[in-house]
Amino acid sequence: MIEAAPTEKRLLRLDMMPHMLCPGCGHGIVFDAMLRVLARRYETLDGVAFVAGIGCSSRVVGYVDSATMHTTHGRPLTFATGLKLARPDLKVIVVTGDGDGLSIGGNHLIHAARRNIDLTCVLFNNEIYGMTGGQLAPTTVPGAFTSTSPEGNHEEPFDAARLVEAAGATFVARAQSFRTRLFEEVFAEALDHPGFSFVEVLTDCTEYFGRTNHLGTGADLLFAQGREEPAVDADLATRPTLRPVPEKRTRPTLATGVLHRSRRSTLEEAMGLVGGAR
Ligand code: SF4
Repeated sequence: MIEAAPTEKRLLRLDMMPHMLCPGCGHGIVFDAMLRVLARRYETLDGVAFVAGIGCSSRVVGYVDSATMHTTHGRPLTFATGLKLARPDLKVIVVTGDGDGLSIGGNHLIHAARRNIDLTCVLFNNEIYGMTGGQLAPTTVPGAFTSTSPEGNHEEPFDAARLVEAAGATFVARAQSFRTRLFEEVFAEALDHPGFSFVEVLTDCTEYFGRTNHLGTGADLLFAQGREEPAVDADLATRPTLRPVPEKRTRPTLATGVLHRSRRSTLEEAMGLVGGAR
């Protein structure tokens, strides 16, 4: 179980405990880091709403003592768009996973980025569908075994951050469950950013991805992230490309930190729902 600090506990629905995450799952680490950021910023979450889709990552919003919407698979950004346009005063945070946000909901993701609607979207990327049985995701590296790629994955993965940036997002960052301080920094900046802010966080599914690919315990997976030595705050020109290493069935090295920030009118500003460009 996540041992939340006293200041973070006030943001939780403790009557929902124990939570459903498997031992060693990286999602708990990321969720705990999210709570630390929120606890520093808000006494209560009265002005904050969380919207999630389906999956182990999306499930964590059910533990937040706030207005939470657990929506249909792949559709959290559609619900969040409606909520934000109806209540532009709310801080709306979308929590999604790589299957939910990039596969089933991939179309909604690129259009939310294109519209530059003022939402913060955190995408937990563990390279697999965890909750629904360990199926192949659009982020699974070549060679990895999943329940739907028993002979190893033959497909190339998306680079989620680059995809969303190309679609028009005005704040894009990537972090890891291994370096939660970096995640806290970029998540805090994403919350302050006017417009569509996207934070991809690389995390691990111990139960399906780790076990199926014989990658060890949750701690083994976590420290393997540390050995990837990603570049922090990488410049666009020096950002490494995906380099699949199927023989090892491990992640390619991906740049972390803030990958893009820019400013243009949000959808709410363009529609006259809020004031002009800040
Ligand atoms: S199935 Fe995987 S992603 Fe889901 S809670 Fe278990 S370890 Fe985490």
